[in-house]
Amino acid sequence: MKCASPISILFLAVFFAVGCQTVPQTGRSALHLMPADQLASMASAQFGQLKQKTPISRDPKYNAMVNRVGERIAYVAAPDMPNAQWEFVVFEDDDQVNAFAMPGGKVAVYTGMFKVVQSDADLAVVMGHEVAHVAAGHGNERVSQQMLAAGGAMLLGVGTRDMDSRDRQLIMAAYGAGATIGVMLPYSRYHESEADEIGLMYAAEAGYDPRAAIGFWERMEAQKRGSPPEFLSTHPSGSTRIRKLNQLMPKAVAVYENR
Ligand SMILES: [Zn+2]
Repeated sequence: MKCASPISILFLAVFFAVGCQTVPQTGRSALHLMPADQLASMASAQFGQLKQKTPISRDPKYNAMVNRVGERIAYVAAPDMPNAQWEFVVFEDDDQVNAFAMPGGKVAVYTGMFKVVQSDADLAVVMGHEVAHVAAGHGNERVSQQMLAAGGAMLLGVGTRDMDSRDRQLIMAAYGAGATIGVMLPYSRYHESEADEIGLMYAAEAGYDPRAAIGFWERMEAQKRGSPPEFLSTHPSGSTRIRKLNQLMPKAVAVYENR
């Protein structure tokens, strides 16, 4: 939105009143305009399409590992995602150093991820982080922000022709296909930090040594120097991330040792 009129402020106020949710683990307030069940069924359909067009790995070792770690992460995330219908899939693509989770509990790890993942504890860092994005409703928040921005712009009577491409994308995101794309929008830096924090605690609660996170992210950085993997392009990494993880580590280690 280019400016805020009294009408748009009223619009914001109405939307915030109906759509405000609290992130379960951190207590932060977040805007969720999409009904959770609708987002989950959209994500489920999209996941089904992905499985149609992406080769699925039958590697017994990778599949056993992803299911073993996934089930333990799902168990500790269950209070935050009570309606999840969990599904864990390994996609066959050695060039993708990547993983993701979608609303409703659909989780995928690409075979390329195993260039960096060396143990169950490493995989718990990856899967804990991805599940944390979903548990904290980050996808819903991204879609909601775009819907809000698009709706506000329209209320202001701004024609799409006069908009820059970013604003036009916001309008697109509010409707039809746009809302579906929103399920997989890149996360903000703030969401990344929050997913790191929640994911680290999930891994620790699930019985994986959270200290594995430091080595894992260092190896991801080293991997980045070759060709930049997508996991890093949507997951800003670096020394800031490692510093923050080190700050959280005493709490995470206490969770791991006292569970
Ligand atoms: Zn992330």
